[in-house]
Amino acid sequence: MASLPPLPEKMKAQVCTEAGKMPTLQEVPVPKDIGPDQVLVHIKYSGVCHSDLHAVNGDWPLKPVLPLIGGHEGIGEVVRIGTAVKDVKIGDHVGVKWINNSCMTCGFCTSAEETLCTKASFTGYMVDGTFAEYCAVQAASVARLPDSILTLKPDVAPIMCAGITSYRSLKESGAKPGQTVAIVGAGGGLGCLALQYAKAMGLRSIAIDTGDEKRKTCLEMGADVFIDFMDPGQEGVVEAVKKTTVDGMGVYAALVFAVGEKPFEQASQYVRPKGTVVCIGVPAGAQVSTSIFDMVIRMITIKGSYFGNRLESIEALDFFARGLIKVPHKVVGLSELPSVFEKLEKGEVVGRYVLDTSK
Ligand code: ZN
Ligand code: ZN
Repeated sequence: MASLPPLPEKMKAQVCTEAGKMPTLQEVPVPKDIGPDQVLVHIKYSGVCHSDLHAVNGDWPLKPVLPLIGGHEGIGEVVRIGTAVKDVKIGDHVGVKWINNSCMTCGFCTSAEETLCTKASFTGYMVDGTFAEYCAVQAASVARLPDSILTLKPDVAPIMCAGITSYRSLKESGAKPGQTVAIVGAGGGLGCLALQYAKAMGLRSIAIDTGDEKRKTCLEMGADVFIDFMDPGQEGVVEAVKKTTVDGMGVYAALVFAVGEKPFEQASQYVRPKGTVVCIGVPAGAQVSTSIFDMVIRMITIKGSYFGNRLESIEALDFFARGLIKVPHKVVGLSELPSVFEKLEKGEVVGRYVLDTSK
């Protein structure tokens, strides 16, 4: 350990101190005091996720721990390892994810459902995250970047949350190759990736979103059909979706990344009998309302899908490494985070913003 280059005492970080207030760029101590099972990652890039905005606003039932450095879509280089860490080395390129650490012994952790671990901590929500130059994380929870991703490029960062989450939700949908799925909120950060994972997994997709820019992006990302929910034609969104399916009976599954209640309700109407609605977007305070009669006689499943486990991280990265997933993104400096949040709030973001922590 003696030969390691020394770490700086201070780092730049975007710090939230009060719920509902934008973070400010501050100089804070580098978290050098890592636990025996942790690693310290020098973060190079961090994507900005919608969940980060919920952490700022404090509008989810689970409240963030303040003061807080947000961010959970980071990639960087391991610069320190804890005394008990055996399988991550100094110099490894890794990803930092939503799950910062989990107990590894409960029934959920031992069955690869660590997102459900009641002792888990979430990066950039309960513990400091990736909107900083350095971030501490449990070694077992980092994502190892495949050898084919040699350099730390900004487009890898969004795979750490948007990629893993959208990939997992397609698996949860139960849709099989050749079947059609609807992807709602398809022009956003997760939707764009879901369209590409769907295509790579042999599924046909109907993208639902609004506006010409999102139409163009969705079709470029592999959508077979685009439906503008603001202008679906006279028959409305539900009939417009059904009409595009092979037998007119509706889609096998709908993946709802949208914010707002209406899209969830519509999805329960345009999935085919025995179809599945997968809720992924988490609009603050929203409820799903649907007819129980309709659910029973059409045998519809409505379920949630939340992030992904360690194997799914590896698989989601593997699709990316094989060139099957492109991440539409824009790189800005760490200092610009508040303006990115403003754009997210207004729904103006197509794809992902990625912060360069050195700027
Ligand atoms: Zn996220
Ligand atoms: Zn656990």
